Amino acid sequence: MKDHLTPDYMFPTYLDVTPDFLRGLGIKAVLSDIDNTLAPYEQPDPDEAHKKWIEELKAAGISVALVSNNHAERVERFNKDLHLDAYPDSGKPGKKTLLLAMEKMGASKAETVMLGDQLLTDCYAGKHTGLISIIVPPIKDKTNLFFRFKRLCERPFIRKYARLHGYQPFMKFWKIKDPMKGTSQS
Ligand SMILES: [Mg+2]
Repeated sequence: MKDHLTPDYMFPTYLDVTPDFLRGLGIKAVLSDIDNTLAPYEQPDPDEAHKKWIEELKAAGISVALVSNNHAERVERFNKDLHLDAYPDSGKPGKKTLLLAMEKMGASKAETVMLGDQLLTDCYAGKHTGLISIIVPPIKDKTNLFFRFKRLCERPFIRKYARLHGYQPFMKFWKIKDPMKGTSQS
């Protein structure tokens, strides 16, 4: 089985996904999750940092679309001042909405990335669709048992990423240590 759960790239925050980095990969379209990727659940509106990031990408010829599994009310409010293509109830990890968004943006699979904070939805959706998947740690994760279980399931794949591409301090979120320096926590 193909590994759709190990991200292609990981960064400390969405702001580290820069126009230069994306241009280097030949990217023209960014499909982005909202909750815990761009903003915590309790932040209903975008802030100046979001606007600046989107403007800078736009200036580099890269479009952004919001692809969220959250409901329309949340997505529409967050998008109110951003005026992006936005897809609530997107059905990630399904491919359907990602393909639709790409088509609307006129970007090929090779020219599109999926950016998110969850391996089982965002990363899987991107890789399964044939896109590059970029993962950031959640801004402020939910702490209920279901979310803790999800994060536990993600741990081996983050560890694999760290082994392949190098450990970075933000990976502590998943409670992993540098795999090159002795054993990991469990
Ligand atoms: Mg999310």
